Amino acid sequence: MDENLFPIKQIIKEELGDESSYRTWIEPLNFKDFSNNTLVLTVPNKFFGEWINDHYKGTIQACASRFLRAKDLKLNIVVEAAKNPLSNQRTENAEIRTDGNGSLTSPLFNPAYTFDTFVVGDSNQFAQAASLAVASAPGQTYNPLFIYGGVGLGKTHLLNAIGNYAIANGCVSSPQNISFISGEVFTNEVINAIRYDRMEEFRQKFRNVDILMIDDIQFIAGKERTQAEFFHTFNALYVAKKQIVVTSDKFPRDIKNLEERLRSRFEWGLIADIQPPDIETKVAILKKKSERENIHLPDEVAMFLAAKASSNIRTLEGMLTRLGAFASITGKPITIPFAKEILKGILKDTDKPVTVEDIQKIVCEHFGIRISDIKSKRRSKSLVLPRQIAMYLSRNLCKVSLADIGDKFGGKDHSTVIHAINKIEGQFDKNPHLMQTIEEIKSKIYS
Ligand code: ADP
Ligand code: MG
Repeated sequence: MDENLFPIKQIIKEELGDESSYRTWIEPLNFKDFSNNTLVLTVPNKFFGEWINDHYKGTIQACASRFLRAKDLKLNIVVEAAKNPLSNQRTENAEIRTDGNGSLTSPLFNPAYTFDTFVVGDSNQFAQAASLAVASAPGQTYNPLFIYGGVGLGKTHLLNAIGNYAIANGCVSSPQNISFISGEVFTNEVINAIRYDRMEEFRQKFRNVDILMIDDIQFIAGKERTQAEFFHTFNALYVAKKQIVVTSDKFPRDIKNLEERLRSRFEWGLIADIQPPDIETKVAILKKKSERENIHLPDEVAMFLAAKASSNIRTLEGMLTRLGAFASITGKPITIPFAKEILKGILKDTDKPVTVEDIQKIVCEHFGIRISDIKSKRRSKSLVLPRQIAMYLSRNLCKVSLADIGDKFGGKDHSTVIHAINKIEGQFDKNPHLMQTIEEIKSKIYS
């Protein structure tokens, strides 16, 4: 790093105004040199460089131009040779098979779950990019990587993709050097190791790997001995600069009964979330999967399913499989009426009329408050947010006027309702948590 160029990072940081993207993509950059109107910067790996080129080039150029007072400044992005001698070393191993395309696969990972088969949209872009960065250079970028998101949104897929990629590209010294285990199995292994007095063996197994991936880590919460073992394994791997990746259905702070020392360690690295997919992403996933499985799925049916299905991608895939099977048995083409018929009971009935009272009831249940609270004038924090969400949903899901909504919330003025709606909409970009909460409530309303 050329110290004189360091302030550029600070300028970019202010320009981005987003700590998470800054830490992920800008902090690891090294500005090396500026001459001939060209700024040289290094990146940890090729993928990283491509990402910078596609997403941050303009910002970096603009900020650097400002700082260096240079017009038409050019960027030269250079991959800095990996410090880890293990990376970029392709290893031969009996356990590795070569599939038709000549790429390496391991029996440990589901060959269908790769980065190639993972459809990227706004909802999962960050988690996908972070996973790819980690797979390309284990232990060198974000450690630990903590991926969280709701059920069926692609967490397990990403872990498999990391494993498949790291093996195929020689980013680990050997496929055996990756441990991939669910929180539940990890817990069972701790119990067995204790029972059969094989703790030493257990420790050896998990502390000598290049990558440790634990799926659904929330499972170990509340299990004292398992958490203690994981804690020591974590530390051993972390100091040895080995990669740790965990997934969870919740943000670390929201996992109940998780030891504080683990929670804080999860926050040391990068926390990447996966949000429920938007309609476009759902359509893209359906199209990709139907092509792979030779199911003829017309665009309008894909749109229909994406709009009506819940955000759980596993459920979405299940619908497609069911449609494909029925179409092939009956020899009928897949149309919207056909889909409606076959998927009766599975599709959300978003045409169902919803009342303000329904919404109030479900929102109150969700937050554990009383209907009388939501209608009251009390302004405690625990009531204000549920009240605003309920007003926002009433406006969006029911055909009622602002004044009617105000009436049904204990006789409030229509300007109070507008304020509530603005409050919620204003947070959409900044607060993915809130989006998820609202999606959850909506799916309860329509189930
Ligand atoms: P989770 O572990 O978060 O519950 P999974 O990783 O098991 O979810 O994903 C559920 C299913 O959805 C899998 O079959 C997976 O391949 C598929 N899936 C999830 N996200 C995507 C995506 N972005 N692109 C393609 N398939 C996806
Ligand atoms: Mg999973």
